[in-house]
Amino acid sequence: MPPLDAATLLMVIAVIDAVACVVWLALGDVLRIAPRASRRISAHHGLLALSWWPALPASMERLVGLPLDLVAAGFLTAGARALTRDRDNARDIIAIVLLGVVAVACTAGDPDPDRARAFSNFIVGVLALMAARDVAIGTGFRIALTSVLVLPFVAFAIVCIWRTATLLGWLSPAYVLAGPGTNVPLVMLILVVDVTMATGLIALVIQRLIARVRHLMRRDALTGLLNRRALEEHLARMQARTDRGRRNAVLVLDVDHFKRINDELGHAGGDAALQHLSAVLGETLRDADCIGRLGGEEFAVLLPDTDLDGALLVAERLRDLLQRQPLAWGDKIWPISASFGVATMRSGDANGHGALSRADAAMYAAKARGRNRVLSAAGEAEFA
Ligand code: GH3
Ligand code: MG
Ligand code: MG
Repeated sequence: MPPLDAATLLMVIAVIDAVACVVWLALGDVLRIAPRASRRISAHHGLLALSWWPALPASMERLVGLPLDLVAAGFLTAGARALTRDRDNARDIIAIVLLGVVAVACTAGDPDPDRARAFSNFIVGVLALMAARDVAIGTGFRIALTSVLVLPFVAFAIVCIWRTATLLGWLSPAYVLAGPGTNVPLVMLILVVDVTMATGLIALVIQRLIARVRHLMRRDALTGLLNRRALEEHLARMQARTDRGRRNAVLVLDVDHFKRINDELGHAGGDAALQHLSAVLGETLRDADCIGRLGGEEFAVLLPDTDLDGALLVAERLRDLLQRQPLAWGDKIWPISASFGVATMRSGDANGHGALSRADAAMYAAKARGRNRVLSAAGEAEFA
C-alpha cells in the first residue's frame, strides 16, 4: 500500500469534519441538546470541511480559505464558551475574527500569501487559547480530566503560533514547521487534535446533560422548589451539623382551605396558587435556607444556624407576607393563607425526621387553633 500523502489525509479530515457537522446539528436541533453550542460547533466543522477540501483552488486561499479558517475557529471558541458558561457573550470572539479577516485582506497586494497565512494562523492560535481558557475555567471537572480536555486546544494553539513564526521567517531552518499541504506528520497531528477536541466537547455536552438530569431529579415539577427527596438530603446534612452542636430549625406550612381554591378556581387555579406561594416565599428567604414542597399543598423550610426565636420570626414574616399578597387569577383576587409549625432540630434524631414530624404536628395544632397562624412544637420552649 503506498504511504498516505498529505493531500489524501486532508481529504480524510474534511470528511470527518463534514460528518461532525451533521452530528452536532442533529444533537442541537433534533435532540435539543445544548442547541446554541451544538449549532456553533456544527458550523465550525462545516466551515472546516469546506476549507480543507482540496478542490478549493490556491488562488482562492486569501479570499475564501483563510477567512473560512478564521470564522470556523471563531465558531469553535464560541461553541466551547456556550458549553462552559451560563451567560455567554461572544463579542470578543467576533472582534478577534474580524481583526483576522481585515489583517488577511490588508495583504491583498503581497505577491506571496505567507503574510496572510501568518496572520490567519496567529489569530486561530489566539482563538484556540481562548477556548482552552473557557474549558479550563468552566468545566467543573477534576483537574486531571480538565487537563485532558484543555490539552488539545493548547497543542493546536502552539502549532498555529509555530506556523506563524515559520511563515514570518523568524525561525532558523532547523525549527521551521512546513505547512499542512506538504507535511504528513503535521496533518496527522491536526487530525488527532481535531478528533480529541471534538471528543472533549462531546464530554462537556454529556456533563451538561447529567447536571440537568440531576437538577430535575431534585426539583418539584410544578413549583420549581426542592422536592421531598432533596429536602431530605438537606435535612440529613443539617442533622449532622446539629449533632456537632449547631442550632438548626425546621418549618412546615400547609395552605389553608386549599380545597376551596381548587373548587372555586379549578385545578389550574389551584396550581397557580401553589406557584404564587412558592414565588412569594422563595424571594424572602436567605440563600442558606432551603424551601421545598413535601407534597400536595404542604411545604417545608429548613433554616440552618437558626434558634427557636429566629425560626418563629421567619415563620411569622412568611405568614404575614403571604396574607398580604393574594393570588390574582383571571378577574378574581383570592386571599391565600397558611398555617405554620416550627421545631428546632435535636441531636441524636434520625436524619432530622423527628424535627420534621414535630413541626408537622405543630402545623396541625395551628390549624386546630383557627389557621393562618404560627405555632411551635410541643415542649420547644422547655427544650430551648
Ligand atoms: P386545611 O386548611 O385543613 O389544610 O384545608 P385543605 O382544603 O387545604 O385540606 P387538605 O389538605 O385536605 O386538601 C388539600 C387539597 O390539595 C387536596 C388535593 O386535591 C389538593 N392538591 C394536592 N396537590 C395538588 C396540586 O398539585 N395541585 C392542585 N391544584 N391541587 C392539589
Ligand atoms: Mg391545606
Ligand atoms: Mg394538606
